[in-house]
Amino acid sequence: MGWGRNRYPMRPYVVVNVAMSADGKLSTIERRQVKISGEQDFARVDRLKAGCDAIMVGIGTVLADDPSLTVKGEECRENRRRRGMDEHPVRVVIDSAARIPTDAKILHKGQGKRVIAVSLKASPEKVAALKQYATVIIAGEDEVDLAKFLDELGSMGIQRLMVEGGGTLIEGLVRAGLVDEIYTFIGNIIIGGKDAPTLADGNGFLTESSFARLTLLEAHRIEKGILLHWHVDSQENLS
Ligand code: NAP
Repeated sequence: MGWGRNRYPMRPYVVVNVAMSADGKLSTIERRQVKISGEQDFARVDRLKAGCDAIMVGIGTVLADDPSLTVKGEECRENRRRRGMDEHPVRVVIDSAARIPTDAKILHKGQGKRVIAVSLKASPEKVAALKQYATVIIAGEDEVDLAKFLDELGSMGIQRLMVEGGGTLIEGLVRAGLVDEIYTFIGNIIIGGKDAPTLADGNGFLTESSFARLTLLEAHRIEKGILLHWHVDSQENLS
């Protein structure tokens, strides 16, 4: 597994992890969080998280699930402390208009830093309020300029970044050529619904030449599902 991209020495190495149903959905059409995997996969995800400098989600996930994105296992937290790190990775939210509620769990639960990426359209008052809890970085005019923001994270010393979703953010990262690896746990349920979130939502890619290409690194059964580990082949910015 490589660290950092030679072309962009400051940019973090990006690992996406999601759990999806057998029909490729991340949650229901109501965007309600669903238990897709079991204890063994939770533990794998916790270790993956603990091994990263930062963990990132889009504002859609914060508003839908209100996650804390903390490391749950005591052993994982102890390992981080021994390495002189905060117990939890830096928690990062992509949120152009600064819609995150100031009482969101991600801003309050567990020790460690928070970073919120906003664009110029965020209200200065809300940005000032968020600065009590997080470092706020302005990147982009309308939506967050993900490449520019990842460069900022790199310059803050973040070398390895885990992305938990959702599908809109992941599509934006893939489109910008910023994803290095993807783990997809596929569980034994069908959620259905043509508007239910998937791994890559957004506008999608229209031509074969613009599809992101992957190399399968590993596939193995975990409990009642299967874990696929992909490498994203070198891609130029697809937008
Ligand atoms: P999301 O991907 O979490 O957040 C998307 C939002 O990020 C956009 O709507 C946009 O909102 C903001 N954003 C800002 N700049 C962006 C850019 N350059 N590219 C892309 N997005 C940008 O939201 P979602 O797609 O609605 O996903 C949420 C759903 O996914 C929930 O139902 C959640 O339960 C599910 N989920 C499932 C898993 C799983 O592993 N099963 C994991 C995570 C989430 P603004 O314009 O307001 O900035």
